[in-house]
Amino acid sequence: MTTTLDPAAQPTGQPQRTYQVNTFGCQMNVHDSERISGLLEEAGLAAVAPEAGEGEADVVVFNTCAVRENADNKLYGHLGLLKQEKRRRPGLQIAVGGCLAQKDRDTILQRAPWVDVVFGTHNVGALPVLLERARHNAEAQIEILDALDVFPSSLPTKRESHASAWVSISVGCNNTCTFCIVPSLRGKEKDRRPGDILAEIQALVDDGAIEVTLLGQNVNSYGVEFGDRQAFSKLLRACGEIEGLERVRFTSPHPAMFTDDVIEAMAETPNVMPQLHMPLQSGSDKVLKEMRRSYRSTKFLGILDKVRERMPHAAISTDLIVGFPGETEEDFQETLRVVEASRFSTAFTFQYSPRPGTPAATYEEQVPKAVVQERFERLVELQDRMAREENAKQLGATVEVLVADSSGRKAEETGRLKGRARDQRLVHFSVPAGSPVPRPGDVVTVPVTEVGSFHLVSDPTPEQYTLRATRAGDAWDRAQAESCGVPTPGAASGGKGVSLGLPTLRVGL
Ligand code: SF4
Repeated sequence: MTTTLDPAAQPTGQPQRTYQVNTFGCQMNVHDSERISGLLEEAGLAAVAPEAGEGEADVVVFNTCAVRENADNKLYGHLGLLKQEKRRRPGLQIAVGGCLAQKDRDTILQRAPWVDVVFGTHNVGALPVLLERARHNAEAQIEILDALDVFPSSLPTKRESHASAWVSISVGCNNTCTFCIVPSLRGKEKDRRPGDILAEIQALVDDGAIEVTLLGQNVNSYGVEFGDRQAFSKLLRACGEIEGLERVRFTSPHPAMFTDDVIEAMAETPNVMPQLHMPLQSGSDKVLKEMRRSYRSTKFLGILDKVRERMPHAAISTDLIVGFPGETEEDFQETLRVVEASRFSTAFTFQYSPRPGTPAATYEEQVPKAVVQERFERLVELQDRMAREENAKQLGATVEVLVADSSGRKAEETGRLKGRARDQRLVHFSVPAGSPVPRPGDVVTVPVTEVGSFHLVSDPTPEQYTLRATRAGDAWDRAQAESCGVPTPGAASGGKGVSLGLPTLRVGL
């Protein structure tokens, strides 16, 4: 018999139980964490205050990652810190989910028997039930499924941003890149039906979102499960039909399957942003073969040429691995060559380290750490220069910035707000004295007055500054009003006015 969460388990008059989700890893995990939060809130728990320390909540969830080096040390370090807290406060519940849980399974309970729940990547939806069962039976619960139970998008979600949302279109991957643990942890690719995806996007837009990012481990192979090779480009075009949806992005595509119909759909669909994250991993054809990545550097550069031909202002970012087993100096030189030719706006650069459970971990020719480090530094230096040069081309350009929540130390120091341009570049901008202050989710149009390797800066004059209030800004307003109980003037949907001074930040003074 299945124990279900009983709201009565939390007696009235008792303080509401709180939760905290700690996320490690990729965007897929960030999105899963939004679902974990949504599930726990639906089960009657409340998020702990953001300034609370680790372990101060009644339920602490770790959503783990097995892709990065030392992922397990990091997790067990955190769990070790919570051991004392659990002794002091036996009511504290600790849950571990995500890729590392899927991989390590009962090892987690062997190494940290004070953990209450271990759940896998395929059954996120079971977490509330497992927590309740652990509490009821006073016994740790472990449940890992080897295949997807419910498509995660049908679970409740607590979104981090009112303006932007993640939408899973597929999970799992049919490729077998030799450095990657994803296929063994997330399984074969599962595609969601287009109608379900579009219905979810419409619901998000109705709720105030103006930007969505379509997510998949291998996003452009979407459709492989139901036999439609052009399903991804069709989906992009269908997103273009959704009224009120201003920005569509996707991550991560695979170069081997990046077909011309996708480039055409991107170029011809106005709300698909001129931005592409295209993982290169290595510029050496020999290393790509060893990685079992089925494209070669010429094909990769050809895709970038086509993208730039159709979208001259597209910003292209990438992932790079340095020091894959067997990588020689010549191979590395090839990576430098392709990086220089690619003119990436950003690169996520990783030093290879063996992941247990992946084929490459067993390869004999592991590159010595010192060599990897030295190559890594050369690559970072080159990429920083490329990024600066690419950003320098933006100087004087006018950018449309979707305003993010700008609280934080840097914002306080500089008096600037921040947001993302259409091509996803980070922009720090000031609001001219006397001009209206945007809310998170609003859109400002400003000139680029300064550039760095990792961001653009704008200090506009009042004449150069334009603010457009959006439904996302309205949604932020409503959420603020709900959380403090004070109705906010000017929060009506579609309102043209901007509520002055709503952000807590002083800007442009
Ligand atoms: S395509 Fe991406 S997710 Fe799939 S195996 Fe390769 S690196 Fe891993």
